[in-house]
Amino acid sequence: MAILEEPIKEPVNVMNYIGGEWVESKGKYVDIVNPATMKVIGRVPRSTADELNGAVKAAWDAFEEWRRTPPVARARCLFRLKELLEENFEELSRIVVMEHGKIIDEARGEVRRGIENVEVAAGIPSLMMGYNLEDVARGIDEYVIYQPVGVFGVISPFNFPFMVPLWFAPYAVATGNCVIIKPSSEDPISQMKIAELAEEAGFPPGVWNVVNGGREVVNAMLEHPDISGICFVGSTPVAKNVIYKKCGETGKRVIAQAGAKNFILVMPDANLERTIAACMTSFFGNAGQRCLAGANLVVVGEGLSEQEFNNFYDKVVKAFVDSASKIRVGYGLDESVQMGPVRDEEKKKRIIGYIEKGIEEGAKLVLDGRQVKLIGDWPTNCFLNPTVFTEVTPDMTIGREEIFGPVACIMRARTFDEAVDMIHGNPYGNSASIFTQSGKWAREFRYRVLCGNIGINIGIPAPMAFFPFGGMKNSFFGVLHGQGREAIRFFTEAKVVIERWF
Ligand code: NAD
Repeated sequence: MAILEEPIKEPVNVMNYIGGEWVESKGKYVDIVNPATMKVIGRVPRSTADELNGAVKAAWDAFEEWRRTPPVARARCLFRLKELLEENFEELSRIVVMEHGKIIDEARGEVRRGIENVEVAAGIPSLMMGYNLEDVARGIDEYVIYQPVGVFGVISPFNFPFMVPLWFAPYAVATGNCVIIKPSSEDPISQMKIAELAEEAGFPPGVWNVVNGGREVVNAMLEHPDISGICFVGSTPVAKNVIYKKCGETGKRVIAQAGAKNFILVMPDANLERTIAACMTSFFGNAGQRCLAGANLVVVGEGLSEQEFNNFYDKVVKAFVDSASKIRVGYGLDESVQMGPVRDEEKKKRIIGYIEKGIEEGAKLVLDGRQVKLIGDWPTNCFLNPTVFTEVTPDMTIGREEIFGPVACIMRARTFDEAVDMIHGNPYGNSASIFTQSGKWAREFRYRVLCGNIGINIGIPAPMAFFPFGGMKNSFFGVLHGQGREAIRFFTEAKVVIERWF
């Protein structure tokens, strides 16, 4: 067992970055703990509403000059940021492992996906162009121009601490707005590093700001009359009842991406070996703490006799459990490890609560991850091993609610239609996947299923930076999405000009 060098040697004092200055918060500080080693790796403030108000002022002070900066010049700042992120790629990835717990390969994937958003936003001179038509009436021309709006707040979840703010911030600043990022207070260190690199890349003071904290900062953003819009990613109760509601009341534009309960269908003609391999990373990657994680595996008996269906179900369960039981769990900086801990002890307790509920409601626990087996000698506080339930039904608590941990629920559906009804009976609509060799079922699935991200023989249908990150029903509140062209549209006003010369 070889552990990669840890980039954080001494606890990091997480600072706010406001108006181009690194400032110590007056708020109370809390420890940031590496969930694999249980060592304190930093401290983060719960900043006050006053501090957020100061950031809003600094951002507006920067706005007028920044919006007048030609898009090509703004893009150059993004190109430099991209280069700096590349130079620091491995260090940033290892910081993500230490602050969050995921394994190094997942952290590298996360950092790569984050950088890709900077790359896409750097195309802003082309992406921000409007359109026109001459002679809408004789001698009259009409055109649309896209203009920046002002100052945006970005509020992110703990599960992708590096990447999620980059679904929004690069597009916000590329279009000429200023941003204030409020990272998750559970793992804010990589956002501090990004801000250091943004400073080095030459973004003028006040364009890119970071204010750390919890709900005090969020509430101050929501109440502030000069915050033009909010980009939020997190759980459904907060997205719906706090963010979307408040933005409606105060007239802010909003993207609120929320929780999930994702179904994966296995059709009888699926390539089982490839399906199970994809399911392992889908259900257990990031220790199940992904909004695109597989949660319910539905074995579908379309076209099979009762006996054939039973045999198929048993075969899928056996292959799934065999693979899940072999997943190597440990510290993410050990490259031989395949799954890290969950973020903290409270989250582990919550997941165990779901496992107990599953047993109580009659699901069959066929792999019990509560008996922790690790590669290496680490404190077990935040670790769980993969857990698998069979004979789960969609009305059981574990089949219905977001567990957000390494717990797989295996279900049966006699037909394809029954499986689709199961998906539609669930309040979430983030993603769904089908594993099949049949174009007919794949098309039906894509056409009918009410989820924002669809996978066809893909376990984690994560949109690339130049496509929008979808979501429907209780998984998304808003109209336009993060990433790509939709983000450009979200961060701009469309102004229409109708012109005639006498
Ligand atoms: P969370 O809702 O607890 O926190 C998200 C953010 O909101 C954090 O910055 C937090 O400080 C703040 N916050 C929390 N409670 C608040 C409150 N009452 N008032 C104001 N602000 C509050 O979510 P989390 O646990 O950090 O992240 C996990 C959740 O995020 C899961 O439900 C997951 O599915 C979801 N998620 C969704 C997507 C997506 O694209 N749909 C992506 C990643 C994560």
